[in-house]
Amino acid sequence: MKTNLKASILTPAQLDAAVHEVQLAALRQGMIPIAAILSRRLQDGRHEVLGAGCNHLAEGIPGIHGETGAIINMGRRAGGYAEVVATSSLSPCPFCQCTMVRHLGIREVRILDDLNYRPDKQSYAGLAAQVESLSHKPIEKTFGAWLRTVKNRPLWARDIGEFDGPVAVPFALGSQPRRRQQVLALAHTAAAAALARGEAPIGAVVLDAQGEVIGCGGPQIIARNDPTLVAAMSAWRACGAREHWMDKTLVLTVGPDAIAYSMFQIFNFGQLIVASDAVFAGYLSAVRALNRHPQRHRPIPVRVLRDTASDSLLKKWLRQAEPSLVREYLGANWPERPV
Ligand SMILES: [Zn+2]
Repeated sequence: MKTNLKASILTPAQLDAAVHEVQLAALRQGMIPIAAILSRRLQDGRHEVLGAGCNHLAEGIPGIHGETGAIINMGRRAGGYAEVVATSSLSPCPFCQCTMVRHLGIREVRILDDLNYRPDKQSYAGLAAQVESLSHKPIEKTFGAWLRTVKNRPLWARDIGEFDGPVAVPFALGSQPRRRQQVLALAHTAAAAALARGEAPIGAVVLDAQGEVIGCGGPQIIARNDPTLVAAMSAWRACGAREHWMDKTLVLTVGPDAIAYSMFQIFNFGQLIVASDAVFAGYLSAVRALNRHPQRHRPIPVRVLRDTASDSLLKKWLRQAEPSLVREYLGANWPERPV
């Protein structure tokens, strides 16, 4: 990964060429050749590079696509993300759209290859984001060649949440009170631990189809200087790469936020259990609306339990935290309705 691009001042053409360089570097390392650069436009039209990244699924890490890789490389920005320009080698998937535009509030997305992947761009609607499709031939050629190589198809399918094999039913947490209590206790403990290190008290647990915990955590946005590490992402990355997520359950103390929503939208998580929606319901109704999506094979079970054990912690944190800090955890458009 090229991190020495940071702080470089580049013309738009040099910026696009740099994205191609990062894409080629990813390819040489055996990664999926998708890359992105985040920058800040200067008065003279050139760009100051803030971060560069590539897809990391080949290393066994879910949730690091080109764009999110660039966000991680950039780190937190004190002034927020409204002036950040995202230049992506490939049209951003719904997960990266949600992370960049809905969660961080990035307003400008430049797409260098709109040919090889065409996610629904409707999700940008109403978000005051300027999305520009450009055609960078060398980038299109690099990714197109990779995509047409048969041996790469399973990795690509896994990267965008596609899976055709048999899928188990997600664990019936709702009908197993004892296990539910154990799992929720883990989520609440993760929330309290997050609060103790100055982060939003939100906890997340990922369960497999047998009800085993495969990932657990609270937000680590401050701890890891990573604006993408909300609670759900923290628990998800702890799971490592899996063939698919369709039989997995995401358990949250509150929410989901925009990033957790996208885990259902594109990665097809199997079930959502939220302890309480009293303080922050976030994109809960949006996940429920996915049930009605015509391309889904089956509805996503969504359950809200009346378990308010983390509510008082979150309420107290919301009263004390700066609004800019709250937005880092609950999304750029907090406290407005997210959808
Ligand atoms: Zn993506």
